[in-house]
Amino acid sequence: MKLPYAEPYRIKMTEAIRTSTREEREEWIRQARYNLFKLRSEQVFIDLLTDSGTGSMSDRQWGAMMTGDESYAGASSYYRLRETVRRIFGFEYFLPTHQGRAAENVLFTALVKAGDIIPGNSHFDTTKGHIEYRRAVALDCTVDQAADTQLELPFKGNIDCAKLERALEAHPAEKIPFVCLTVTNNTAGGQPVSMENIRQTSLLCRRYGVPLLLDSARFAENAYFIKTREEGYADRSIKEIVREMYSYADLMTISAKKDGVVNMGGFTAMRDKELFDRASVFNIMFEGYVTYGGMSGRDMEALAVGLDENTEFEQLDARIRQVALLGRLLDQYGIPYQRPAGGHAIFVDARRVLPNVPREEFPAQTLGVELYLEAGIRGVEIGAILADRDPETRLNRYPKLELLRLAIPRRTYTDNHIAVIAAACKNIYDRRESIVRGYKITYEAPIMRHFTVELEKL
Ligand SMILES: *Cc1c(COP(=O)(O)O)cnc(C)c1O
Repeated sequence: MKLPYAEPYRIKMTEAIRTSTREEREEWIRQARYNLFKLRSEQVFIDLLTDSGTGSMSDRQWGAMMTGDESYAGASSYYRLRETVRRIFGFEYFLPTHQGRAAENVLFTALVKAGDIIPGNSHFDTTKGHIEYRRAVALDCTVDQAADTQLELPFKGNIDCAKLERALEAHPAEKIPFVCLTVTNNTAGGQPVSMENIRQTSLLCRRYGVPLLLDSARFAENAYFIKTREEGYADRSIKEIVREMYSYADLMTISAKKDGVVNMGGFTAMRDKELFDRASVFNIMFEGYVTYGGMSGRDMEALAVGLDENTEFEQLDARIRQVALLGRLLDQYGIPYQRPAGGHAIFVDARRVLPNVPREEFPAQTLGVELYLEAGIRGVEIGAILADRDPETRLNRYPKLELLRLAIPRRTYTDNHIAVIAAACKNIYDRRESIVRGYKITYEAPIMRHFTVELEKL
C-alpha cells in the first residue's frame, strides 16, 4: 500500500483555543459593529483573518532568537540577515523595517511623488494606500481572467503585458517610478505569477527605462507554483527559482510575516547604491538606524532562519497541500471559490454563495459574519469595503470580485480544523437562499476603512 502523506515536522508546543456558543458570538459580533477586526481573539475559535505573522516558528528559529545581538549599530544579527538576503534574493543593499508597509513607506518616500503612475497586478491594500496617500495612481493591469473565479488557470496572478505596455507608452518614464509586481497576487486570490510573466514584465520595464519592484510577501509560495506548474522548472530547487525570479527585478519590498515565517518584520532591498543612500535617511527617520530598522536583533535572527527554511520544497508543500485540502472539501460541497486553490488562502466567491445579497450591502462581509456566527471562524472581506472609495469621486468602488478570504496560518492548524471550516461553509451554503440582506456602513475612516469600519445589520 502506498503510504499516505504526512507533514515534515512534529509539534513541540500547543496553544489552547476556545469554543463558544452561537448566543455568545451574536453578542460579541454586535459589540464589534459587525467588523471582524474588532473581535477579541479569545472570541474566535479558528482564526483565518490572515496568515500574516500568525504562523508557528520552528525550534531552529526559536533557538536563533537566543543568539540575537541587540547592539544599536553593526549588530551581528543584521549582518547575518544581510548575508541571507544577498544569498536568497541576490540584492546587494537592504533596509530592515518593522513590517511590509513600513518597507513601502521608506522606499516610496524616496521614489513616489504626486501625479505618478504605478502599474501593477492588483496592488495590495497597504501598497495602494501608500501610493494614493502620496497622490499617485495605482493602475491595475492584472489579466482579465483573474476576475472569473471559475476559470482554472495555473497563473491567474499575472500582469497583462498588453495593458502594461499601453500604460508605459501613455506616460513618460519620469512619471512611472516603478512597476509593482506582487508575488503571489494576494488580492486576486493568492494566485501565482509565472516566471515567463516576470521575465516579460522585466523586458518591458527595461525597454521603457522603468525599474521593476517585486512586492514579495509570498515569494516562496510563488516559487513553489512555478516549480509545480510551469514547464521547465520541475527539477529546479525553490532557491534556484527564487534567484531567477529576483534576477529580473531592481527593487523589492517584503512583509516577512508571511513567507519569512516570523511574527513581525520586513525589509526593502535594491541594487542601486544611490537609492539605498536616499532610502536610508527615511529608514532612520521612520524605522530605526540602518542596521536594525524596525527589528530587534533576535527578530532578524529568526527571519534569517525562516527565509532559509521556508525556501525548501517540503515546507511549502506541506502548507500548500493544506490549502488545497480546504479547496477539495469545498468542491465536495459545491461551494464556489477562486480557482485553482491559492497559495495561502481559499477565497470564497461571496456573490455566488449569497446571490440574494445586493452588492451595495456587502455580500463578502455578510458571508464573513455568517461564518463567524456559524462556527466562531474568522475570515476577512476582500470586496467593496476593502476596495474603499475612489479618491477623486469619493464614490464606493465595486471591484469585480467579492471574496471572503480564509487565510491559513503556516504550521498552525491541523487538517481536523480544516474539516470544521469546510463543514461550517457547507451549513451556510445549504441555507443561502434565506440570506437576503447585508449591512450598511455607519462609520468609516477616510483611507483603509476596512480595519475600523462600523456596520449595521439591514
Ligand atoms: C502583507 C502584505 C503587505 C504589507 O505587509 P505588512 O507586513 O502587513 O505591513 C504588502 N504587500 C503584500 C502583497 C502583502 O501580502
